[in-house]
Amino acid sequence: MSAPGLSHHLPRLIRRGSIACAKSIHWAVAMITDVRKLELMREAIEEAKKSKSEDDRPRPFVGAVMCDDEGNTILKAHRGEIDDGGHAEYTLFKKAADAGISSAGKTLFVTLEPCTRRNPGKTPCAVRIAMNGVKRVYIGTIDPNPSIIGRSELFLVNKGIEVERFPYSLLRELMDLNQRFFDEYTPYSLPVVEGLDQDGPASAIEGNRETLLQTSLDLIAYSKGPVSIFSGGSSWTRELQVGLLFAALQKRKVRILCEVSENENKEELKLRFSAALGAGASLVITSNKLGIRGTYVGENPSAASMLSIERAPTLHGMKLSGPYEQGLRSAMKSYFDSEWDQGEVHVGSEPESRGARGR
Ligand SMILES: [Zn+2]
Repeated sequence: MSAPGLSHHLPRLIRRGSIACAKSIHWAVAMITDVRKLELMREAIEEAKKSKSEDDRPRPFVGAVMCDDEGNTILKAHRGEIDDGGHAEYTLFKKAADAGISSAGKTLFVTLEPCTRRNPGKTPCAVRIAMNGVKRVYIGTIDPNPSIIGRSELFLVNKGIEVERFPYSLLRELMDLNQRFFDEYTPYSLPVVEGLDQDGPASAIEGNRETLLQTSLDLIAYSKGPVSIFSGGSSWTRELQVGLLFAALQKRKVRILCEVSENENKEELKLRFSAALGAGASLVITSNKLGIRGTYVGENPSAASMLSIERAPTLHGMKLSGPYEQGLRSAMKSYFDSEWDQGEVHVGSEPESRGARGR
């Protein structure tokens, strides 16, 4: 007796889903082959190499390629292609819009993880990708910036977008291409393991905004008593304010010394700190260019402080802790107090009189 042929089982197997229906067979044919994927990754890397840096800081080389379901290249873009510092994905979507090309359902190859945060008024690239209805994203390397480092991938997956990575050999090539960029951020993103890293945890803070911000927030969170902030410019006020609000709500005395730049006005600066000011913090706005970001906590300079000098060519920060840097902390406090006394003090929306301010 012979076994029943395939034709006998076919209708039942299709019903059960064991054999793909005609629609998904078509979809399988339309998939991008592995060979083509590697070619598209290579195209994105070559595009990245054309990136233009807007200043002397270590900016990444980033390329982006958009393709359709068959793997046909539709558009390419790179960082700084149409304006200074313009991200590759932003540039790609702008070129697509200008050409009347829809990005919906398309696949992107990007050499660097899309950003998840930009300065106020700018849309992060990860958000742009989701807004434009992109179906799938291939990412070359994770962004080593400690404020991004994988968050974009998590964000995109949560938005229902398929995320895959370039293979290791290409990742390595991209890290070499962006060596300065990775050197700048990687030290802050790697975990420090006692006994494994011979130098142990670094006591000096160097370089980037995220580390300075995190150090300030830690100082505020793990201390008691007054908090004094050299805010420098206002670019970190959004995040910093969380710590300041926390301190003000604890009824600690919070003083913010903020520089006003030419294209900002005082009212806008006050608005940026409005939550902390509403909780009782005080703000002095100075037009002096101090070039300093810093935080000190506690009644006297025996507590820890953070000081960062923001002058070009690069950012440097130091955490001043323990009894060792008392002289520097005293100088920092004196400088803060003298600047504070020269400015107009604002509490909430009203200027406070000097008599009421005291101390
Ligand atoms: Zn971006």
